[in-house]
Amino acid sequence: MAFENLTDRLQSAMKKLRKKGKISEADVKEMMREIRLALLEADVNLQVVKEFTKNVRERAVGSEVLDSLSPAQQIVKIVNEELTKTLGSEAVGLNKAPKIPTVIMMVGLQGAGKTTFAGKLANHLIKNEDARPMMIAGDVYRPAAIDQLKVLGQQLSVPVFDMGTDTDPVEIVRQGMQQAHEKKNDYVLIDTAGRLHVDETLMQELQNIKDVAQPNEILLVVDAMTGQDAVNVAESFNEQLGISGVVITKLDGDTRGGAALSIRSVTGAPIKFTGTGEKLSDLEVFHPDRMSSRILG
Ligand code: GDP
Repeated sequence: MAFENLTDRLQSAMKKLRKKGKISEADVKEMMREIRLALLEADVNLQVVKEFTKNVRERAVGSEVLDSLSPAQQIVKIVNEELTKTLGSEAVGLNKAPKIPTVIMMVGLQGAGKTTFAGKLANHLIKNEDARPMMIAGDVYRPAAIDQLKVLGQQLSVPVFDMGTDTDPVEIVRQGMQQAHEKKNDYVLIDTAGRLHVDETLMQELQNIKDVAQPNEILLVVDAMTGQDAVNVAESFNEQLGISGVVITKLDGDTRGGAALSIRSVTGAPIKFTGTGEKLSDLEVFHPDRMSSRILG
């Protein structure tokens, strides 16, 4: 279960506090120490932890909290509000094109879950908007990726545009876009190649695809299990390509979940979806307040 570690640590810190009727500044200090440790253990970026604890502390030592009838509850409320703020405050929907098609490009490292997410997103759009998406198979370096996308396309009755593995992905995207315009698809979902690490060649190719496709969204797909690495990956994709949103996959795994807290702060890009399993339906729209409540238990 995701967040088990962070949740447990925060809950036990909260519990200690709840037992106290009246709390002192020293109690707040002790509480902040526990929160700080819980966040660091969960792989939350140090800068983000500092900022977060500073904001909570400033609000928590205020006299209206210490003198209130239920100071512990007040502090729990403050932690919840600050967590929500760190996660981005409000759910952010997809950027839509003023005229169809809305073009969404999936980027990320190999194995992050891009291809799976493309299928999940197509499913989500069909279910919620009665959409007619088309998918473009732009990952020509991993031959299985094309087959994987085609299988997903068949399951969903969504057309998949591909030209095998011998054509330049930029050309594939150019022709795929043309077809989507002709067939009046309302969404185009572009699956792109990943690498094991961020590198110059990959970024150049993605930049070229971006130029041709003029996407309304560049969604960075990151694997929650990779913790602090996911944050570094997000930072470099954002610097080099510019991302408009983040998808955090594998939140169903045994992850410490700190990536979700850090990525928003570090990149400024909103988290838009989370992946919670391998099935097409295992997709959730990201709600900062719900995620915060889930972390706090
Ligand atoms: P890509 O290389 O980025 O296209 O990654 P894939 O879409 O092929 O996904 C890599 C692996 O992660 C596959 O085995 C997927 O089934 C799995 N996967 C993707 N998303 C999730 C998720 O949210 N939860 C879990 N448990 N597995 C996932």
